[in-house]
Amino acid sequence: MATCAECTASFEVTSRDQDFYKNMDVPPPKSCPDCRLMRRLIERNARTLYKRKCDLTGKEFISPYHPDHTFPVYMPDAWWGDGWDEMSYGRDPDFSRPFFEQFAELLGVVPHQGQFVVPGTMQNSDYVNCAGYLKDCYLIAETDYNEHCYYGNRIFHNKSMVDCSNVFENELCYECIDCQKSYGLRFCQDCLNCSESFFLSNCIGCKDCIGCINQRQKQYMVMNKQLTKEEYEKQKTALKLNTFDGVQKIRKESEAFFLEQPHKALQNENNERSIGNHLYDSKNSEDCYDCKDLEDCVRCARTFSVKSSMDYTSWGDKSELMYQCASCGDSCYSLKFCTTCTTNNSNLEYCAHCSGCSDCFGCVGMRRKKHCIFNKQYSKEEYAKLRDQLVAHMKKSAEWGEFFPKSVCPYAYNETISMEYFPLNKEEATKRGYTWREPSDEKPNVQKVIPAAQLPQTITEIPDDVLNWAVTCLVTARPFRIIKQELAFYRQLDLPLPRKHPDERHKERIARRSGVKLFPRACGKCKKEIQTTYAPDRSETVYCEECYLKEVY
Ligand SMILES: [Zn+2]
Ligand SMILES: [Zn+2]
Repeated sequence: MATCAECTASFEVTSRDQDFYKNMDVPPPKSCPDCRLMRRLIERNARTLYKRKCDLTGKEFISPYHPDHTFPVYMPDAWWGDGWDEMSYGRDPDFSRPFFEQFAELLGVVPHQGQFVVPGTMQNSDYVNCAGYLKDCYLIAETDYNEHCYYGNRIFHNKSMVDCSNVFENELCYECIDCQKSYGLRFCQDCLNCSESFFLSNCIGCKDCIGCINQRQKQYMVMNKQLTKEEYEKQKTALKLNTFDGVQKIRKESEAFFLEQPHKALQNENNERSIGNHLYDSKNSEDCYDCKDLEDCVRCARTFSVKSSMDYTSWGDKSELMYQCASCGDSCYSLKFCTTCTTNNSNLEYCAHCSGCSDCFGCVGMRRKKHCIFNKQYSKEEYAKLRDQLVAHMKKSAEWGEFFPKSVCPYAYNETISMEYFPLNKEEATKRGYTWREPSDEKPNVQKVIPAAQLPQTITEIPDDVLNWAVTCLVTARPFRIIKQELAFYRQLDLPLPRKHPDERHKERIARRSGVKLFPRACGKCKKEIQTTYAPDRSETVYCEECYLKEVY
């Protein structure tokens, strides 16, 4: 067992870990897996976006970088263009000073790409981030291949969705979490192939159901009770699901009902010798979360199509041999301790914001370069020699084998996806050495501001004029606007207007997901020991895979 240099928790370095470290020629890390994960996750600010100017073109755009940052921030097209030269920031290493200090100085002056979108694939979708292949989308992040989707994150191959997270191949859904291949769902979680239903949890192939859990191929069910079509229609009308109060009431009732029902220990599908949660189509992988198509991976999160990697978060896509990397992906091979390096990189160490590069060390913002150190060009032989000298220097300064220190990251803790897996308040984050940034809302330029509690119960009572108002959030009092396409969506689905700020809605959705830690726990039925993301002190009844399947089929 090792002791975490940061939180003092003890953690295991397995023989699998040791083999991997040996293969990558790195020493074991000094901090525990959780501290490492938190640190890497702050390299991704997907949803906290600011209006700011491009420091090259002067044009206004939306960016995850707050206007207060001193490094230049360029719009994607400008960043990719010929209007600047990353090599002009090149410098020699100084062996009398720590590496990270010099890297921070370089990172502090090289222009940053100010919005992460796949160039040339976006239509009418300016207000998004970490995105590609979108049409008519608004305020969604970590997302690809969608049309008419508004608010939410991790949305892939969907059409007409509002306020959803971790959803794949759905259409016309509202407030859904971890749903796949479904249509017309409202307030559902962990559902597959379901349609026209409200408040379902862990259902497959269900249609016209309300408040059900663990059901398979059912129709006209309310709270797991089979009704006739007529009874169902009558009950549905009585529930007044088109009113704000009606929705609140059934939410409360179904949540209480779900707590009495068995829960699946882990949400995994189609894996071989693998463990994690929301892990799909993977082989020989462990401790991985929100991942798909992994092979021989350990401690990965939010990645897909990855081989032989450890401690890797966001995003993968044909990447291999990645170690302690964050926000890197799209055909990357053998990257160590890198952040935000995208598309066709290989053999990079301690690099940030590089693209199409190979054999570089300590570089920032490089495009299609080879054999560079601190943004300076070397011959192949010079590079190899200087790289070895730097590694030896970093071994002496105890930097080698560790990810960049927290101070190197430009994002505040609460701006990043770390909040999703490890929600902290300002005091806790600061105590752990992270920075914090209070959300600052622009004063909305509107005709009137209305407190959410004063909104009418149904969408039919809302005039189109609502588009000229701001609503103040029930919880945080932050003002928010309703956009035209969103209003049309609520009208189409006969949904009441939301009464919370989009950030609050996001926070509540994420809180409904279980975490990224496996706990040993006894199966609620056969008592055998299982691994689950439900901590032992939580009140859900959790079943092992066999007992759960017996229960639902
Ligand atoms: Zn720790
Ligand atoms: Zn069991």
